[in-house]
Amino acid sequence: MFVVQAPDPILSGKAKKIETIDTTLLDLIEAMKVTLVTASDPEGVGIAAPQVGKSLQLFLMKPEKDSPISVFINPEITLLGKPVKRRSKKGGAMLEGCLSLKDIWGVVERPPKVHVKYLNEKGVKHEKTFAGWPARIIQHEYDHLQGILFPLRVIEQNEQLYKSHKNKEGKDEFEPLEL
Ligand code: ZN
Repeated sequence: MFVVQAPDPILSGKAKKIETIDTTLLDLIEAMKVTLVTASDPEGVGIAAPQVGKSLQLFLMKPEKDSPISVFINPEITLLGKPVKRRSKKGGAMLEGCLSLKDIWGVVERPPKVHVKYLNEKGVKHEKTFAGWPARIIQHEYDHLQGILFPLRVIEQNEQLYKSHKNKEGKDEFEPLEL
């Protein structure tokens, strides 16, 4: 599926609650799974329904290359802990990006844990606490369902946005984005 790019208005609207899990929805979930695993540069770790043009409370997560895809329908989240930056093993703050904001990056502080109530694609109720990288992805995707894109978080936190471009060697280079 085509990934909707900002500033498409669907990305800034609040997504609708899903009332029934029918074949249309399951087909959408299958198509989103394909879109998520085929996304490259940046690779996708999560995707929300508004990003494929559907204003529905649904997102998918795949934190690592070899992790299964988790489906979250009508998620309700509770944030746990004091917001932190994502850090690399060397300690540097790592940039957050989005499939709908190609080449835009920024540092976002987010709480380290979330408690989530949601339905999976079989309609089964789940309740689970996530920590670390998955907790960050869930917050990013949940924001999409509220019509919030990560640059708003960056600006709220007085952090810098960056724009990336490829250098001659095909590697990403980042420069500050002036607003
Ligand atoms: Zn995103």
